[in-house]
Amino acid sequence: MLNIVLFGPPGAGKGTQSEKLIEQYNLVHISTGDLFRHHLKNETELGVKAKGYMDKGELVPDEVTIGMLEEKVNQHPDAKGFIFDGFPRTAPQAEALDDFLSGKNTKITLMLALGAAEEELVKRLLLRGKDSGRADDSDESIIRNRIKVYNEQTAILADFYSKQGKYEVVNGVGGIDEIFNRLCIAINQLAT
Ligand code: AMP
Repeated sequence: MLNIVLFGPPGAGKGTQSEKLIEQYNLVHISTGDLFRHHLKNETELGVKAKGYMDKGELVPDEVTIGMLEEKVNQHPDAKGFIFDGFPRTAPQAEALDDFLSGKNTKITLMLALGAAEEELVKRLLLRGKDSGRADDSDESIIRNRIKVYNEQTAILADFYSKQGKYEVVNGVGGIDEIFNRLCIAINQLAT
């Protein structure tokens, strides 16, 4: 199986690139942000739990997030692999994912980190907020809080995967196809 964690701060382009990668490599895309937004829209119990955190740009508690992620993976028993987008975001989530995948005799193949400078991220998110209707993309202070939460709680996962020899940085600035090419080169190198 090819299991990729697409990593990077909000606005790095994880969603856009995931869409292209799943087509190229025939993978299943799991975005915890998309899953939460789906629950929010349908006003499920989980959506109600997540709303307060999402509105502030804070992380939803680990046990809620991990349970939701595992349920989604279990819905695809025949998958050739997964792109995890926006998950894991904390050390307990990364540990839970490793345990969960090893219980299925598989593991994370590679974490690909998309990088971009903070001002570029804020600019992209404000632009996205204009047509996405996402409340957390329309308010600069919430955007900056999401980047702060990323730096404080999520960025450490680079170490977690580096220690396993599975971490690679990809320049996230440039055209969509240019960045996609860089990601493909990193993935294709695994096979050689
Ligand atoms: P995203 O679309 O990935 O930017 O996620 C939007 C929001 O959903 C985040 O600001 C969090 O409130 C929540 N969220 C998404 N993924 C996670 C996660 N792995 N852990 C905790 N909260 C998450």
